[in-house]
Amino acid sequence: MSHDAQHTVSTGSLPGRDLVEAVLDEAYERFRDLDEGEVIEGVPALADVEPDLFGVALVESSGAEHTRGDARHRFSIQSISKAFVYALVCQEIGHDAVLERVGVDNTGVPFDSVLAIEHNEGHPMNPMVNAGAIAATGLVPGDTRAERWDFVLRGLSRFAGRDLELDEAVYRSESRENQRNEGLALLLEGHGRLSGDALGVVDTYTRQCALLVDARDLAVMGATLASGGMNPLTGDQVVDPSIARDTVSVLTATGMYERSGEWLFEVGAPAKSGISGGIVMISPGKGAVGAFSPRLDDAGNSVRGRKACAHLSRSLGLDVFASRPPSDAS
Ligand code: GLU
Repeated sequence: MSHDAQHTVSTGSLPGRDLVEAVLDEAYERFRDLDEGEVIEGVPALADVEPDLFGVALVESSGAEHTRGDARHRFSIQSISKAFVYALVCQEIGHDAVLERVGVDNTGVPFDSVLAIEHNEGHPMNPMVNAGAIAATGLVPGDTRAERWDFVLRGLSRFAGRDLELDEAVYRSESRENQRNEGLALLLEGHGRLSGDALGVVDTYTRQCALLVDARDLAVMGATLASGGMNPLTGDQVVDPSIARDTVSVLTATGMYERSGEWLFEVGAPAKSGISGGIVMISPGKGAVGAFSPRLDDAGNSVRGRKACAHLSRSLGLDVFASRPPSDAS
């Protein structure tokens, strides 16, 4: 039986190391020369990235790791931080409060849109685009900006299993041109969805987006959510299993901007992307893929990252929707 036929089902464990390595080779080699898409414009510190960079990593719930290409090249995490801050905030204030304050639904509008706020009487709805993510960061505990930043930095570092650092140039570049996010925050405050220091919340949010990670870090962070909230490399229980489950369920509907439905149809596993070209894809119980390539499609998702994830998902059985008839029925 070919590996495709054997491992397209989402239950059970990943195939053995040799097959995982072979499929990762395929995913890397097949797409390394693809140059479709455009690097993000508009954030000067992100625009001067080397566009040909391409890295893929897979970390299994067992702790086994696999990397290809530029998997150790660091870039700012951007929107992917939203998934992990959301998990940390859920852990602090609980499932029901986050549902009420932030929401869990796709809004179908671009990541920096004000429309979702206005359409839903001030309820940001989607924690994986800017308005909802800013509302989630607004729920981070702490009396001062410094305490709240410390909470975010330490929490995301625990997901990664190492001390993450800020890309100061990206942070400064985004801070200088942050009128849109500040506008979203003030609008949320006007609707009673952010209490106090709206601009301080945007500052924390901008910092969280500027944390430096590589594709392997993303795979470790995702594998933590895929493993009941326990980092499979460090053994640290970062969030409860129920919170990991809640976060992954939200990513399923919202993680890939307004292409989340198409992503599920084509790739079939919860994921989150960011405008610097990162993607994390999670297969509960099995592990996670981290991918990085800066050229984006028109929704802001990395083109090579998307293709690599689709190939890995199909060939390794990471797709959470695939099944096959019971063997005794055939
Ligand atoms: N820092 C970016 C912003 O807030 C993140 C955007 C993204 O990756 O979607 O606009």
